[in-house]
Amino acid sequence: MQYGSGNDPAPYPGRVWTNTYTPADRRPVLRSILRGVSLSCPKCGRRTLFSSYLKISQICAACGEELFHHRADDAPPYFTIFIAGHIIVPLLITVELVYGPPLWLHFLIWLPLTILLSLALLPVVKGAIVGLQWALKMHGFEGAGSSNETLNPSGSQ
Ligand SMILES: [Zn+2]
Repeated sequence: MQYGSGNDPAPYPGRVWTNTYTPADRRPVLRSILRGVSLSCPKCGRRTLFSSYLKISQICAACGEELFHHRADDAPPYFTIFIAGHIIVPLLITVELVYGPPLWLHFLIWLPLTILLSLALLPVVKGAIVGLQWALKMHGFEGAGSSNETLNPSGSQ
């Protein structure tokens, strides 16, 4: 049954229903996350995701995919703290239980290690989140012509 072809009222008047979604439109989630982890564009896999340490490129220099749609926000620091904490704390406890070093030595080891690990993880985690958002077509990653931002480019209502 097709809406609009008979006397049946369409459930959402004014909305055009299309059934053009195909398996080819699906984006592999794991591959996209792994490409993000390797700081690569989730679409083409080239290492163009970041334009600087934590700044996502506006557009992929290799394939032209729009990358500015990402909304990573506070997620990368949150997950970085979560991951770094789960690496550092067990190591710290193990070293304390096995060797029992003085407190100043703990600070000398774990403070720089935590900072370096966090700085190393931050772009990796951010890349993974952008890859996930791209794979799930979140925040305008749907592609040209289907995002809310392209429906009304003039910005007028
Ligand atoms: Zn690309």
